[in-house]
Amino acid sequence: MSALYDLHTHSTASDGTLTPKDLVSRAVGVGIEVLALTDHDTTDGLSEAAVAAERSGLRLISGIELSVTWNKQVIHLIGLGFDPANEGLVTGLKGLREFRQWRAEEIGKRLEKEGIFGAYEGARALSNGELISRTHFGRYLVEKGYAPDTRKVFKRYLTWGKPGHVPGQWASLPEGVEWIRRAGGQAVLAHPARYGLTRSKLRRLISEFVEVGGDALEVVSGSHSRDENFTMARHANDFGLLGSVGSDFHDSETPWNQLGRIAPLPDGVIPIWHDWKVA
Ligand code: AMP
Ligand code: MN
Ligand code: MN
Ligand code: MN
Repeated sequence: MSALYDLHTHSTASDGTLTPKDLVSRAVGVGIEVLALTDHDTTDGLSEAAVAAERSGLRLISGIELSVTWNKQVIHLIGLGFDPANEGLVTGLKGLREFRQWRAEEIGKRLEKEGIFGAYEGARALSNGELISRTHFGRYLVEKGYAPDTRKVFKRYLTWGKPGHVPGQWASLPEGVEWIRRAGGQAVLAHPARYGLTRSKLRRLISEFVEVGGDALEVVSGSHSRDENFTMARHANDFGLLGSVGSDFHDSETPWNQLGRIAPLPDGVIPIWHDWKVA
């Protein structure tokens, strides 16, 4: 039996609902042996997770999920196994969080124009002093009865063309890959099937990702269908990329991305961990 890997998860350091420590104990409970905590645009949860992992014998990989703008669209890059103290990475992340804070206030202002008051303060309170994600707005608006679930909040208020949508520039694709790789990590194109790209656009994205030094495709994702896992496996092989796997766990309410519920990496894909040294 090979080890159970989950290389894409979130904690309260970004938009997850479990603290890093609780995430690690839940991971141990479901049999995960190698875990990456990959919060959005922050490494703040990693030290707490590392202490908990050390105690429980779980192998923790340093992780991040970077927000990138490519072709006017938001793309996510997973970074794995980097040095969280790397200066270039630290500076890059700081810039992303500054943009994120400005955007949160702006979302609040735009929602006010729609007659929804206090959304910024509400989202901020739910973020517990950590960074503010659209997920926090989603949870707050559900709490206040504006929609039955966060999915609907996104659909009605937070996505392209909707009142609370704020466009802007995150990192560029070359920057994002560079920050991860210069910090000694591997760069993974996250949940490639989730961007709504045509096959040819997606292949353009993947080829640009390869050109700037990307390492792997997240072939298996909790947010992919079985078919999408197989399609992404073919893309990984075509482009000579390694394959990564992750649930994209945020909370226990969302059924499709539960911790450790990972479909097998399709045959023929070289796992991103193939040359990782055993601890
Ligand atoms: P942000 O990085 O603040 O723009 O927020 C993006 C996060 O919102 C993603 O990582 C997901 O966790 C969540 N998200 C994105 N789209 C949706 C959606 N349609 N329904 C629910 N959550 C979503
Ligand atoms: Mn998220
Ligand atoms: Mn993502
Ligand atoms: Mn994620």
